Amino acid sequence: MVQAARVRATATGGARPLVTVRGVTKQFANGTIAVRDVNLDLATGEFVSLLGPSGCGKSTLLRMIAGLGDPSVGTIDWPTAMHDASGHAERDLGFVFQDPTLMPWATALANVTLPLRLKGVKGREAEDRGAEMLALVGLKGFETSYPRELSGGMKMRVSIARALVTHPKILLMDEPFAALDEITRHRLNDDLLGLWEANRFTAVFVTHSVFESVYLSQRIVVMAARPGRVMADLRVEAPYPRDELFRTSADYAHWCRIASEKLKEAIAS
Ligand code: ADP
Repeated sequence: MVQAARVRATATGGARPLVTVRGVTKQFANGTIAVRDVNLDLATGEFVSLLGPSGCGKSTLLRMIAGLGDPSVGTIDWPTAMHDASGHAERDLGFVFQDPTLMPWATALANVTLPLRLKGVKGREAEDRGAEMLALVGLKGFETSYPRELSGGMKMRVSIARALVTHPKILLMDEPFAALDEITRHRLNDDLLGLWEANRFTAVFVTHSVFESVYLSQRIVVMAARPGRVMADLRVEAPYPRDELFRTSADYAHWCRIASEKLKEAIAS
């Protein structure tokens, strides 16, 4: 079962994957093995969720894909990316944390334009691109608002706009909506899907919610804890666009049941 899941996890058809995770183990200095022998290919443009109980290494894996920490064993590579002279891949990514992590002293627009300014895009061009991105996440008219003036959902929208403003190839999200109320969460799920369908970046979404993973994803990688490892790799064969109709459909219930069973197996393993 685990073996079969591993085989599927590394198969992405003919095209070169955007990211390859090969035999990755991460052991922290205190001895904790956060993930062990993870193999995973991420295909260009797909929407993948990492689903699993707390402590199964979802965040650790996501952070290593982002380059925030190196594997103890194994490799993470970006086969289609430019590499520098020492072989390091240029990771073209946006990252959304569970907390919006905005600069409190800066306006929404200044927060969103930060990655552009770090890349040397200045003045009017940065502001126009930032304002356009804020409009795309539903925050037109809030450019000059400060984080303290925004609701939790709006702050998360700013955080998503900041992650997408450079049009990265991949958007990595670490339980971004976990702290939000259900209605706001559903709305942000829909808006995220709208952005993904319009731009087709690769999306990797960490969650412990079966319902959220099924609603959003084409593919769900189910993980188990102690040590963190990949247990199953499911394809959610339901069409997009996904909306309220999908959320109440027999198809949605069917996929939630399958993902739930896999998660239960992972927790029991
Ligand atoms: P998840 O995102 O699935 O909740 P994490 O990746 O945060 O899981 O953590 C996986 C395991 O690694 C947990 O047991 C956690 O306590 C441990 N861990 C995470 N970060 C560190 C760290 N910096 N030092 C030591 N242990 C850590």
